[in-house]
Amino acid sequence: MKGAVLHAPGDVRFEERAEPAIVKPTDAVIRVAVTCVCGSDLWPYRGAQPIEGPTPMGHEYCGVVEEVGSEVRSVKPGQFVVGSFATSDNTCPHCRFGYPSSCVNREFMSAAQAPMLRVPHADGTLVPTPGMPSQDLLPSLLTISDVLGTGWFAAEAAGVKPGSTVAVVGDGAVGLLGVLSAKQMGAERIIAMSRHEARQRLAREFGATDIVTERGNEGVARIKDLTKGVGADAVLECVGTQESMWQAIRATRPGGGVGYVGVPHGVSLDGAELFFTHVRLHGGPAPVRRYLPNLIDLVWKGKIDPGKVFDLTLPLDQVAEGYRAMDQRRAIKALLRP
Ligand SMILES: [Zn+2]
Repeated sequence: MKGAVLHAPGDVRFEERAEPAIVKPTDAVIRVAVTCVCGSDLWPYRGAQPIEGPTPMGHEYCGVVEEVGSEVRSVKPGQFVVGSFATSDNTCPHCRFGYPSSCVNREFMSAAQAPMLRVPHADGTLVPTPGMPSQDLLPSLLTISDVLGTGWFAAEAAGVKPGSTVAVVGDGAVGLLGVLSAKQMGAERIIAMSRHEARQRLAREFGATDIVTERGNEGVARIKDLTKGVGADAVLECVGTQESMWQAIRATRPGGGVGYVGVPHGVSLDGAELFFTHVRLHGGPAPVRRYLPNLIDLVWKGKIDPGKVFDLTLPLDQVAEGYRAMDQRRAIKALLRP
């Protein structure tokens, strides 16, 4: 079997990898229908996150169960399933408290850019769809695995409620699906921060009511202008840099919330400054497993179409071009077909 392997910054290869097999009785092996490149894959690709030797890549997936271990009960061979980028047993105290991405048995998936994939803790990680999906549903089902689930968490963590005024920092796929999530949660006003026309267009399609092109403190000033000097009730931070984090915090009204889901790189917050903002911060790796049933239902019934974030589709053997296109911001998100 061939799959994606990162050898060094900028060097992703489609090369021979061991075929996945059942290792533990709680595992499943699935045949990947579609997979994709994540914004977070770009951190090691750009050398901003060190790797120790050649690293199989990919953590977003959906597909058909090929084989299950002897202890797996809730999924069967032949079923189409969607799983989270983080595995979970769905039974430990953190899972039951709603945070499966902090499961005591968590493993981060990291070999999904391949035709076959081993999924640990299959019962707690995978959710079957109501039936075999048509081809046109695959991109949207795939987004649930991470990028939509993460945008959804950003909105939930920020405290988006019906009638909320929301701002979204970051116009990558997560930010755009954060817009969609805020809309689903009943936000009345959604301000997307983006300076790219195609992304602004998609943000509007997903429910953005306003676009702010300025960044940093100028961006904050624009949000204040648009909210009569108050700030947004809820701000989704979907980038993970020092500038984007403060942009999010300063754009939030006192008592409002920031949901931060961009993996922080070089972010440090001054306690005293944070203290006087009166802003609630909540974030982390999204508890996607908790959202799977609801998000699968919304996609299955055609109520949302998050698959629109894929503006590039490639055969898996051209995975390197998928990374390049996203790195150079020629593509919002690259879908890969094994
Ligand atoms: Zn757990």
